[in-house]
Amino acid sequence: MRLIFLGPPGAGKGTQAKRIEERFGVVQLSTGDMLREAVNAGTELGKQVSEVMQSGALVSDDIIVALIQERIRQPDCAKGFILDGFPRTVAQAEALDTMLDTLGIAVDAVLELKVDDVVLVDRISNRFTCKDCGQGYNTKFDPPKEDGVCDKCEGVEFVYRPDDNAETVAARLAAYHEQTAPLLPYYAEKGSLCSVDAMQDIDAVTRSIYTVLEQGAS
Ligand code: AMP
Repeated sequence: MRLIFLGPPGAGKGTQAKRIEERFGVVQLSTGDMLREAVNAGTELGKQVSEVMQSGALVSDDIIVALIQERIRQPDCAKGFILDGFPRTVAQAEALDTMLDTLGIAVDAVLELKVDDVVLVDRISNRFTCKDCGQGYNTKFDPPKEDGVCDKCEGVEFVYRPDDNAETVAARLAAYHEQTAPLLPYYAEKGSLCSVDAMQDIDAVTRSIYTVLEQGAS
């Protein structure tokens, strides 16, 4: 199974990708997570991208394509993958097509998680993750069962993303509409785009995704 998740920041791509990963044993490839790891580790790449990420703009296509090109060749990707947050520009999508051609593989479906902008800011400004296992939560919509304790690993330390603030979120949404939304017609023309109503609660979105996957891309 090879999937692409498309959708604005806060649509739930990461949350849903983690569920698909657990259920089907495929790997979640999140370019955002990879870049954050590089920033936190203080690598050369991290230093190069941290300011751009902080502004809410997109990192250059060259950097992102090189990152995915290297990752997608790793043996764990052979059983399948979910691209979460990549591609984000038409140039990235074209580079991905070339990459997949070279590897002799294809994407099974591109899933658009559709959410109105008005709810995204609310979702994003209330989200946080467990510092130990990365499980995501939201104060309003999906808090840990026990306050201050991670459901998954019982960790007690949580982190907020530095780019999850109102100002940066506005820039990230603008980047989505200007640079990423053109991928919707790009994949619709190829016949691989499926849309899921991601305004529903988290479990309902997961069920909708499973339904789409069972039916296959239309
Ligand atoms: P995300 O975690 O997917 O919301 O990504 C966080 C930030 O990382 C974005 O706001 C961008 O600055 C950068 N980023 C992640 N993925 C990409 C990508 N495919 N292309 C360009 N920039 C990206």
